[in-house]
Amino acid sequence: MAEKILVVEDESKIARFLELELKHEGYEVELAFDGRDGLEKALKDDIALVILDLMLPMLSGIEVLRRIRKTSDVPVILLTAKDDVSDKVVGLDSGANDYVTKPFAIEELLARIRVALKRNGSGRRKAEEEVLTAGELVLNKTSHKVTYGDEEIPLSKKEYDLLEYMMENSGIVLTREKLIEKVWGYEYYGDTNVTDVYIRYLRAKIDQKYNRSYIRTVRGVGYIFEEKD
Ligand code: CA
Repeated sequence: MAEKILVVEDESKIARFLELELKHEGYEVELAFDGRDGLEKALKDDIALVILDLMLPMLSGIEVLRRIRKTSDVPVILLTAKDDVSDKVVGLDSGANDYVTKPFAIEELLARIRVALKRNGSGRRKAEEEVLTAGELVLNKTSHKVTYGDEEIPLSKKEYDLLEYMMENSGIVLTREKLIEKVWGYEYYGDTNVTDVYIRYLRAKIDQKYNRSYIRTVRGVGYIFEEKD
């Protein structure tokens, strides 16, 4: 059965364009033209993914997202205005899976949709697994050991915690604030630059040592862990 995608976008030209392109890709499409209608439709069981514009009448995209996340983990991809970094940060912190900046190339959006749908399907299984893998990199959640091929990578506790959180959220852009909250905890009051320092440690021990690029910097926003083919 075709997966149904909800497009919440008040600019009807963009909404119709997306509807056409998505249908062409084999998805079913539902449209909503304001935040209130979008929220109502997003909570329906048959919606596999939501494309959510941030600038909406009735309810803002961020507000819609926050209310969706109270009850649902349906994947949400935001459409954000060009260069508005704060929108992206707030959106990702509010539980968006990804974002695309307007004006966007449809191929980019389609690729992100495929990733988000795939991740949602496999994400539920992952919770029961005790091992996270990315190519040759293997993180064992039971023994807290990390290996690359046959070699064990010695990590401090914080390095391990950071890597585990990033691998669990592989493919998702993580803001510094999110990393602080999840890895260092709410009680941490220091500078968010500490994340940059620990990312550097991980890169030295993994990316540089094994000539890989698992950890990518998203300028002005944060970091993303990716497994590239
Ligand atoms: Ca809009």
